[in-house]
Order: sequence, then structure tokens, then C-alpha cells
Amino acid sequence: MKIGIPLESAPGETRVASIPEVVKKLIGKGFEVMVEAGAGVRAGYPDGEYAAAGAQLTDRAGAFDVDLLLKVRRPDAADVEAVRPGGLYVGLLESCGEDEILSAMLAKGVRVLGMERMPRTSRAQSMDALSSQSNIAGYRATLEAAARYGRFLPMMMTSAGSAKPARLVVLGVGVAGLQAIATARRLGADVYAYDVRPETQEQIRSLGAKPIELDLGESGSGEGGYAKELSEEAKAKQQAALSDQLAKAHVIITTALIPCRPAPVLVTEEVVKRMRPGSVIVDLAAANGGNCPLTVAGEIVERHGVTIVGLTNFPALVPADASAFYARNLANLIEIMFTPSESGPVLKDLAEDDITAAMLVKPST
Ligand code: NAD
Repeated sequence: MKIGIPLESAPGETRVASIPEVVKKLIGKGFEVMVEAGAGVRAGYPDGEYAAAGAQLTDRAGAFDVDLLLKVRRPDAADVEAVRPGGLYVGLLESCGEDEILSAMLAKGVRVLGMERMPRTSRAQSMDALSSQSNIAGYRATLEAAARYGRFLPMMMTSAGSAKPARLVVLGVGVAGLQAIATARRLGADVYAYDVRPETQEQIRSLGAKPIELDLGESGSGEGGYAKELSEEAKAKQQAALSDQLAKAHVIITTALIPCRPAPVLVTEEVVKRMRPGSVIVDLAAANGGNCPLTVAGEIVERHGVTIVGLTNFPALVPADASAFYARNLANLIEIMFTPSESGPVLKDLAEDDITAAMLVKPST
């Protein structure tokens, strides 16, 4: 059973789907691993380390001509061309609903498993790439905010005078938001946080931050622990109720998302105008439309004296650990996909396991 690890071709992508330590374990379980030359270089894993782990270094075609192709980013048209008909493809798909690329993969008889379709259950936790990558994004986004803010985050008392701690607000307290809070607390900021799911208030307090409590007249808790979209009336109420808290903030880190829906607008232009010049907003929802209408996806802009960071791939800024976490998520998934045998790993029926069944892309989804 051959596994392929190609170089990621998406612009700005630095991560790689497997790392030498994990490759070694896969080979120990009877897989052959083909790694495209240079695949791990941008993440800090040189070719020699893969070779020492037992992988075969190959060209791009060799990494695609495999039984199980492992990728980080969504396939593109060239990937569809190169993938082996009848093979297996596992990676982040970055899509909801109709998708020409995925349909083309299915038309070639490729079974596609989407890492973001992983159920958020206890059993799936060790395979959950959304969590591992969001965790990194929350951490890195906070460092980005700290670096772009022209003042200290912690209280600072020096012989040249003292500085007050920055008031930092985190909006959306899922995996990324919780890590943003934890990182901001470690850096000494005065942290406030808000999520539409009331159950997050206890988690916010447990990290030493203060929950912002709003009464919207309806619950934002949806299915599977995710948020649901609010009514137009509740959205307007939310924006108005948050505005004074946000206008006082020096740093805002927003992470609010609703699966397969545009990101909710939480930081209006009116709020940005009221913020102190030199303040920073890091909008982790930028790729999904942004939690602030002034965010420009993929860019860092200044509006009304406030720096708004719309970078869309924070995990790629921590490529060694992001790749290591992702690679371990994949290895844990592979563990449940195959049965060991004398003649090598044998693929199980993917529809039989609730995890792989949920991840499998079906025609016209
Ligand atoms: P996400 O990335 O989908 O969304 C980020 C946060 O934005 C969520 O907390 C959501 O409630 C919040 N949000 C959405 N609309 C909002 C609004 N209008 N105002 C304020 N906040 C808003 O979330 P995620 O990090 O993927 O986590 C989703 C859920 O999955 C959470 O309940 C999390 O605890 C759970 N989870 C479970 C597991 C597991 O058990 N294996 C693993 C990871 C996450």
C-alpha cells in the first residue's frame, strides 16, 4: 500500500502533509511512502530526514501515483489530472456543497475524504485537523496582534514610567478563540471574550479572562456544538450591544464562524472609527467574509487609524508544528482506516466507521 506526500502547491502554503517522524511510523506499519523532493523544506523538514525515515524521494508524478494521497490543501485541477484513478485522497477540501474539482475526482473513481468533515466527537479528537490547525491559528494571530500593536500588552512598570495592560477582546470562543485567550493572558493583556454560545462563559473564566454577557433574546447554539446563524433582529441587537465594549478595546481578535455560512459581522465600521488610533484587529474569519466589513482577505490594511489583519493562513506561519500536528491527525486516521495483515495494511470498508463515513465525499456534495 503506497502513500504519497506531494509538495503543497497553493500560494503561500508552507505546510506538508507528513513529517519524517510520522513517515517512519507508517513505514513500520507496512506502508510504502513516496515523498516529492522538497515537500517538507518550507516546513523545516529536509529531504534527507524523509530518506533517513525510510521514505522514497520522488518527482511530483511519483508522489501522486499512489494508493493513498495525503494533502494539506484542497486539490486543484492539476491534482485531479495527476491523481491515480480508483485511489484514495485525504486532505482539507475547503468547500461546502457543489464543487467541480471534487466532482472531477469522484468521476475518476477517487474516494475523497475531507478532513474538515471529521465529526467533533471524543473518539475523533486525535484526528481532528480543524482543531489542531485552529489552535495554532489562535496562538499565531495573538502574536501577530501583539507585534503590530504599538504598545505593550502587559502592564509594564519601569524607571521610565509605567504602561497599562492592553484591553484585548476575543470574539468567537471555539478552538482558535480559546487559544487566542490563553496566549493573550500569557502575554499579560486584560482579556475579555464573547461567544454566542453561552456555554463558553465558563471556559472564558477558566482561562482568567472576563466573559462579555449579552441578552439577544435567542440562543446562538446550533447542532454539534457549532453556532447557528442569528435572526436579523438578533444580529442587529448583537452589534449594538457589543459596540461599546469593542470601541474601548485596543486589540480585537475575531474568530466567529458558522459552518458553510458567511461569517457574522461583529465589528462594524462605526466601531472601528471609535477605536483608538494604533489599535489592531486580527480577523481570523477573513477567508469566510470576515467578522469586520473592512477586512481585506489576505492583506493587512489600515482603516480609520486601526490596523486590520486579514491574513488567511496563520498555521502556515508556524509550519513545522502545524505540519507535525496535521501529520499526526492523518496518522491517527490511517490507523482506523486499515487493518494490519501479513501482506501489509488492508483498507477497511470506509462506510462502516462513523468517522470515515462522515468524511467521505458523496456525488454532488
Ligand atoms: P468555529 O470555528 O466553527 O467557530 C468559532 C466560534 O465562533 C464558535 O465558538 C462559535 O460559537 C462562534 N460564533 C459563531 N457565530 C458567532 C456570533 N455571531 N457571535 C459570537 N460568536 C460566534 O468553532 P470551532 O472552533 O470549530 O468549534 C466548534 C465546536 O466544536 C465548539 O463547540 C467546540 O467546543 C467543539 N469542538 C469539539 C471537539 C471534540 O469534541 N472533538 C473538538 C473541537 C471542537
